Amino acid sequence: MGKPTGFVEYKSIVSSCRDPLARVKDWQEIQETFDEQLLKQQASRCMECGTPFCHTGSLINGKVSGCPLHNLMPEWNDLVYRGLWQEAFQRLNLTNNFPEFTGHVCPAPCEGACTAGLVSDPVTIKNIELQIIEQAFAQGFISPRPPQVRTGKKVAVIGSGPSGLACAAQLNQAGHSVTVFERSDRVGGILMYGIPNMKLDKKIVQRRIDLLQQEGVNFLTSMEVGSNCDALSILREFDATVLCIGSTKPRDLNVEGREYEGIHFAMDFLSHNTKSLLDSDHADKSYITAEGKDVIIIGGGDTGTDCVATSLRHNCRSVTQFEIMPCPPTTRSVDNPWPQYPNVYKQDYGQQECSAIFGCDPRQYQIATKKFVGDKYGQVKEIHTVQLEWVKTDNRWNCQEIAGTEKVWPAQLVILAMGFLGPEENLLQQLNIQQDPRSNISTSANSYATNIPGIFAAGDARRGQSLVVWAISEGRRAAKECDTYLMGRSDLP
Ligand SMILES: Cc1cc2nc3c(=O)[nH]c(=O)nc-3n(C[C@H](O)[C@H](O)[C@H](O)COP(=O)(O)OP(=O)(O)OC[C@H]3O[C@@H](n4cnc5c(N)ncnc54)[C@H](O)[C@@H]3O)c2cc1C
Ligand code: SF4
Repeated sequence: MGKPTGFVEYKSIVSSCRDPLARVKDWQEIQETFDEQLLKQQASRCMECGTPFCHTGSLINGKVSGCPLHNLMPEWNDLVYRGLWQEAFQRLNLTNNFPEFTGHVCPAPCEGACTAGLVSDPVTIKNIELQIIEQAFAQGFISPRPPQVRTGKKVAVIGSGPSGLACAAQLNQAGHSVTVFERSDRVGGILMYGIPNMKLDKKIVQRRIDLLQQEGVNFLTSMEVGSNCDALSILREFDATVLCIGSTKPRDLNVEGREYEGIHFAMDFLSHNTKSLLDSDHADKSYITAEGKDVIIIGGGDTGTDCVATSLRHNCRSVTQFEIMPCPPTTRSVDNPWPQYPNVYKQDYGQQECSAIFGCDPRQYQIATKKFVGDKYGQVKEIHTVQLEWVKTDNRWNCQEIAGTEKVWPAQLVILAMGFLGPEENLLQQLNIQQDPRSNISTSANSYATNIPGIFAAGDARRGQSLVVWAISEGRRAAKECDTYLMGRSDLP
């Protein structure tokens, strides 16, 4: 530990974001760069406690506590405090292939498990992680590292989200020839076409893809395996296959009026917007616009927040976000103790922007949609809702409608952001891949092997809708198992 009194002397300061009123006028990164001296101070708040929980990545009450990648943050915090950026990068690189992604978008379960958080604010681990990798790029510590020896084995990775990229990176380092098949026109999965540019700049995603390409990974885009690219011929051509196809079936809301125009899934709204931005700076108008509309987003999670921020940048007239659950408390409740992930009220970037423009958080809690109503042209014009109350009976929470709380909301654009129901089935059926009761790809416990020898699975397609940090972790673990299958042993971490 570089400075034993660090956490006593210095208050926690998270890196600042651009002014919400200014940043909603563009699509550039919201995050500002951090002063190096300040960052060193922040790193010195890490106590290197005897039994750190920040890197455990264990599940408590179904939620992750600590980092799923088991990042070695006590070590790199100390190195950052001492200004040893290269050594800090080497430690970080041992466990995380893409700290620039997690440093931008991870909800940081590590910080929820930080011991300093018991008595004060946690160490700002995520900010420090991001600065280590950005320093590494800026100072030239990162250059393409193609493997010195090739094994002669060929692996197909299907899907190029964070799990596919991590898996490809690891297998390539093991010396296998890796081809990544991606059905979109750009590589990156949700990193590219889900999370908007202001939260994760696509130049950052492309910088890593370019590096992987220079290291020898082969990317084939606009190739949908099982559709315009024959699945069985891939099995014949490659020695092993890893399915990293994500959880892409959106949850629908089948209430009266669902058929009206103007009701869209969140991924259609977000992906078309980013594609149009990247292709033509929105000049092609090939996206669903929120301009001048009352927008209602059904779903209170990360995806819904991205839709709020995107609608604001389109100059919507109003934006409201419906959440079925109650508003979380402002501090941890008794049944959510440290080191669990803290389920507390906070405003993410989209809600902060909405508050700055309209003076209020866009979220409406404990609300259910009863029906959509349209105009004579078949276009949605309003949503009818009712308030809910959550009641615990027989140790289970159930929701009930509260009579007399019915309300009508004007809405010309409705976005459904209620999560995903597992991977698409076409490819899985062609390959006879077994699925579990939740429709995710089935593997035995602690294994990434499917029921078909030589076919592995990783990421949201196996785990269910999750986080970027889990996808990277799954990609790494699946790569190790695949490497063992090919070589009889594996030196991959
Ligand atoms: C809008 C949105 C915002 C999110 N924000 C965050 C966040 O801020 N922080 C966070 O940690 N997590 C976030 N998540 C969750 C996170 O992005 C996912 O958990 C993660 O991307 C899963 O990675 P993956 O590699 O398993 O799948 P994906 O990223 O979904 O990638 C799967 C890829 O497979 C491709 N594919 C599918 N089928 C085929 C086929 N047959 N042939 C070829 N290619 C195919 C798809 O086109 C896609 O590119 C968000 C999710 C969404 C939807
Ligand atoms: S990847 Fe996420 S959980 Fe792990 S150290 Fe980084 S911010 Fe924390």
